[in-house]
Amino acid sequence: MATTTRALAPGQVIVSLNFDDGLASQLQAAAMLEARGMRGTFYINSSRIGQSGRLTLDQLRALRDAGHEIGGHTLSHPRLTTLSADDQRKEICNDRVALLNAGFRVTSFAYPFGDKDSFTRQVVIDCNYNSARESGGLRTPTGSSSNPYAERVPPADAYAIRTHGSVQDTTTLDTLKAYVLRAEESGGGWVPLVFHHICGPCDPPQTYSTAPAVLAAFLDWLAPRASRGTTVALMDTVIGGTLKPPVSWPPVQPSQLFKNPSLETDSNGDGTPDCWKRGGFGTNTFTWTRTSDAHGGSWAQQVRISSISSGDRKLISEQDSGTCSPAAVTGHRYRISAWYKSTTSVRFKAYYRNSAGGWDYWTQGPLLPAASSYTRAEWTTPGAPSAAKRLSMGMSIDRVGTLTMDDFTLTDLDATTALREEYRRAEEEEVEAPIPP
Ligand SMILES: [Zn+2]
Repeated sequence: MATTTRALAPGQVIVSLNFDDGLASQLQAAAMLEARGMRGTFYINSSRIGQSGRLTLDQLRALRDAGHEIGGHTLSHPRLTTLSADDQRKEICNDRVALLNAGFRVTSFAYPFGDKDSFTRQVVIDCNYNSARESGGLRTPTGSSSNPYAERVPPADAYAIRTHGSVQDTTTLDTLKAYVLRAEESGGGWVPLVFHHICGPCDPPQTYSTAPAVLAAFLDWLAPRASRGTTVALMDTVIGGTLKPPVSWPPVQPSQLFKNPSLETDSNGDGTPDCWKRGGFGTNTFTWTRTSDAHGGSWAQQVRISSISSGDRKLISEQDSGTCSPAAVTGHRYRISAWYKSTTSVRFKAYYRNSAGGWDYWTQGPLLPAASSYTRAEWTTPGAPSAAKRLSMGMSIDRVGTLTMDDFTLTDLDATTALREEYRRAEEEEVEAPIPP
């Protein structure tokens, strides 16, 4: 996969074959492309995946595995400029998040109906897309506008990539060829072509449709033009750039999973903060202190090992059946942070409660360096195994030295997934709109 935007040679043309709206009839287009060594970009409305007449998730994954690109096209294909700011963000951002969660590399966006304004464009940027495609803006072969016959590479505005508008049932093979020929003759450039239904005759008739025979003839004509520098590429390949992280709307504030995270409360006065446990094993000599040398609040915990031949000492969250210990969700990653001081290396530790109610060692973080003043450390676990029902996490020391700990946080890095699913279900309940260009 190219990751840098390249400049074209004079007269060089790149054609991008776009298929919008996740229509089931596009499967045969994908097969036609593959037979000719080409790949396309499929712009998907995530809340419509698997609906009648639409590609299923398995089919989309097969397209991805065959080398096609999956792009975003909003949750439910609205006219974005008619929506509130919040609804635009949900449509654009949460669609991308849903596609990312389904395992696609989503960098390219297409505006439904080509409908956008400067605010919509900014939302696409904020949702971490690398590009956005319009419908229209290029000069048609018979047109007299001052628009160019081809988009530039890189485009003047990566969030307003121009096209010839959507291919219709009245678009002839000669017109498709002319899109490419005019671009070749006018110095070259980028020609994204936008297809919808692949059928002919279509039942029911579809304005935005292309007969399989026309598409096949066009691709047969296009393929050998590689010898003169006219090639086919994915939108993502032409734009380049890295895959950026998901952004969901509204932004999700991860909730604190530790109880008594600042170690302040000690109801029974035994020195061990509520919902925490002074743990450890092996042969070593140690002392625990509830110290006022705190990072936040009034109290911190300190453990000192004066001699050790085996094992460790650690402060970990209480290993109970749920009063203190947070539930674990299979596959979710958990992020722990703490403020610590130490005279030697220390590390985070993670345990889980199994379905029989016992507590098992799970995993540990990398060694953290000695720190003479309070230092924040953070570590993210791998996905929780299915055996994990509840979590216990904390910080340990396994050599001679002193470790002081305070102000822990524990968050579920993947907690937003459930929220995204809620959006998806809500969108599915909306009335189905006619299939648009
Ligand atoms: Zn569309």
